[in-house]
Amino acid sequence: EEFSGHIPTKLNGLDEALCGGIPFGVLTELVGPAGIGKTQFCLKMALLASLPVRYGGLNGRVIYIDAESKFSSRRMIEIGASSFPEIFNMQGMAREMAGRIVVLQPTSLSEFTESLQQIKVSLLQHEVKLLIIDSMAALISVEHGQQAPRQQSLGWHISFIKSLAEFSRVPVLVTNQVRSQHRDQAPQYSFQDSSNAGDLERADKYDSRLVAALGINWAHAVTIRLVLEAKSGQRYLKVAKSPLSPPLAFPFIITSSGISL
Ligand code: ATP
Ligand code: MG
Repeated sequence: EEFSGHIPTKLNGLDEALCGGIPFGVLTELVGPAGIGKTQFCLKMALLASLPVRYGGLNGRVIYIDAESKFSSRRMIEIGASSFPEIFNMQGMAREMAGRIVVLQPTSLSEFTESLQQIKVSLLQHEVKLLIIDSMAALISVEHGQQAPRQQSLGWHISFIKSLAEFSRVPVLVTNQVRSQHRDQAPQYSFQDSSNAGDLERADKYDSRLVAALGINWAHAVTIRLVLEAKSGQRYLKVAKSPLSPPLAFPFIITSSGISL
């Protein structure tokens, strides 16, 4: 079996810009406001990683960290059935595909890291072809009943995720919600670290509250950052950070077959 360095998104312009897709061994972050399509993107990627190789998939398992209980196997199967009817019409295939996605719902960052320690073995055996964290901010949010981790401990978790990606060569796709353009919206992150204030400029247009929540270490740990946003009713996917691509923006839509450019 071919072990390439990317998992193609099947979004043509994007795969070209990223020289093949979401790269193995590094962190790729999807940021955008609520409802823009981050989870829809993740569901499609989970599907693509689990599909048989002859259909352009990686024939692998997927670990889906569902920190906000937003994973929907029904929606994933809907995306699969309308994108790849020939596979999903086969008896038992929808179930088989869904069975390849291991969905975990940790309630804190340390619970998440503990579960990953256990899963490390299968990560290292290359059975797992994609690790999704939807979302990172939710994992550290006080809304999930946990005390906010201190920056030092957060730094440890970030290093752990990054080194896991490096050692296992698994692509890690992480979502994070940012506020929409409306200034009057309530803050989504309820704790801050003022020591980051000086770094906000360097974080480019990165949401200041997200930086406050995750710290500048996180912004730097991410190799590729894709920003999803809406302008005048049109959704756009922007390559905001990439070692290979210049900043690019692609209009996209979401249909029954998922996200497409
Ligand atoms: P959050 O930050 O709240 O998790 P998100 O960025 O993950 O938001 P998604 O759940 O990925 O947002 O996207 C939700 C949007 O996807 C819906 O508002 C809708 O526009 C679109 N969508 C979901 N299912 C379908 C479908 N079956 N057909 C068309 N569009 C759909
Ligand atoms: Mg979501």
